[in-house]
Amino acid sequence: MKTLKSYVGGRWHEAKSGFVPLVDPSTEEPVAQASSEGIDFGEVLAWANDKGGPALRAMTFAERGKLLKAMSQALREKRDELLELSRINNGTTKGDGAFDVVGGSGTLAYYAGLGEQLGDRRALAEGEGVSLGRSDAFWGRHLLVPRHGVAVHINAFNFPVWGFAEKAACALLAGMPVVTKPATATALAAARAVEIVLAAGILPEGALQLIVGSTGDLLDRLGPQDVLAFTGSADTALSLKSRGNLLAACTRTNVEADSLNAAVLGPDVVAGSPTLELFLKDVVREMTQKTGQKCTAVRRVLAPRESVAAVEEALAGRLSQVVTGNPADPSVTMGPLATAQQLEDAERGVAELRESARLLAGTGKRSDGVGSPAGKGFFFPPTLLRADDPLAANAVHRREVFGPVATVLPYDGAPESAADLVALGGGMLVTSLYTDDADWVGRFLARGGSAAGRVYLGSQGSAPEAPGSGIALPQTLHGGPGRAGGGEELGGLVGVTLYMQRLALQGSREMVDQLAGAQQAG
Ligand code: NAP
Repeated sequence: MKTLKSYVGGRWHEAKSGFVPLVDPSTEEPVAQASSEGIDFGEVLAWANDKGGPALRAMTFAERGKLLKAMSQALREKRDELLELSRINNGTTKGDGAFDVVGGSGTLAYYAGLGEQLGDRRALAEGEGVSLGRSDAFWGRHLLVPRHGVAVHINAFNFPVWGFAEKAACALLAGMPVVTKPATATALAAARAVEIVLAAGILPEGALQLIVGSTGDLLDRLGPQDVLAFTGSADTALSLKSRGNLLAACTRTNVEADSLNAAVLGPDVVAGSPTLELFLKDVVREMTQKTGQKCTAVRRVLAPRESVAAVEEALAGRLSQVVTGNPADPSVTMGPLATAQQLEDAERGVAELRESARLLAGTGKRSDGVGSPAGKGFFFPPTLLRADDPLAANAVHRREVFGPVATVLPYDGAPESAADLVALGGGMLVTSLYTDDADWVGRFLARGGSAAGRVYLGSQGSAPEAPGSGIALPQTLHGGPGRAGGGEELGGLVGVTLYMQRLALQGSREMVDQLAGAQQAG
């Protein structure tokens, strides 16, 4: 069986014990094993600080952008191999795998372009500055400079390649070396993606290290200049960010956690309209893509009371067309859940939802999958529920079932009622609104806009190009308040500034502007 290795201190590290098995979720056959035992995490940080940081900081944004361009290219060239690894370890169909793999190389390419735009600078000045006294004698200006530490990236199991690439793109462009740690159970494609980048000899020594398995005492060693960027469940996030040393050193910590995203149908949307068609298509895609294992998947579907029956019928009809099974079988359109633990959690989660909702479609339980032996594989059919009393349906607003599961919530059509219901989720990554009525959206935003990091508007106007609410595009923000972690990733420069220190430079205008210019030019 393949043993995954970590890349630390400039060499590949193979553990001798402590292995966690990685399996094919369609067949439950083992595909690899991973362990980080024996790694000296002090050496990992020293290697990044002594080698990677100085080398990256010596480069301009344009030069770092070139590194990202080459990384993107290297991953694109191995796309088919990565898709295959994603299939055998994540259980993804080709389309679902591409969402991760192509999304990862695309995000690197976007940040490569941003680096080119930022040009021959090593720091960024914000705005033109401001007078702080009666004249130009005392002047202030903000500068963004790379932090002199290490960016530690901990990723969730569902996006092994994109998770690595989107975080690494921002940190490397800012000038910080990266230590990346994929979720162990699905580390196969992530480990190979890092190996591809390292083998291509693109990055300076120490700019990128890989941990497969546990992070040992790495997080205990982080200090004031380091950045911890975490993606995963809200429970793990809480336990990580409340560590004493991180709090004491004010280590910058960005969290992308779970989210009970809602898709809301406006009362103006009529049968047969392009907006209704977009809503139905998006909801089904956002429930079933990656078998519902997306932090941005739709978990709650709000429909006006008068149209709820038609919406449920249409959704149930489309979900019944989904073919669940082993993605090796060409007829399959939705793969299994990624691990036995995810399957168990999804079954338990639907049982909890059923305390305040009833089943409309699916079983909420494991099924056999097309193309896999009976009894094998972590298959779970698309499952739609309805809560008749949405305000009282506590579990629906609190329990993220990380699978192809959503609950329909009838409401009275008023944007304020919809906003109040959506906000019960406690902070979302994305809320999608389907309506052609901008005033309705305005009222929704006024009441509940601050409850989500992103609002996706599905309308007749956006229908021709709207890609679905689940896609986190690098140009706009990914993250959300409250339960969603309170983090901010991507969003163009926003994602890069996570890895930079903003400092206010104060002094005479002449000196401030001269220094700001010199800092920018490096
Ligand atoms: P998880 O169990 O919280 O694990 C996430 C990561 O944290 C894994 O790499 C895991 O490593 C690591 N980890 C766990 N305990 C740790 C510790 N004590 N020290 C250091 N690392 C630790 O989450 P998951 O099951 O992989 O992912 C599913 C969740 O992620 C869902 O709730 C989903 O909503 C959320 N998610 C959010 C986003 C977003 O962008 N907001 C994106 C994707 C997923 P091991 O695998 O080695 O345990």
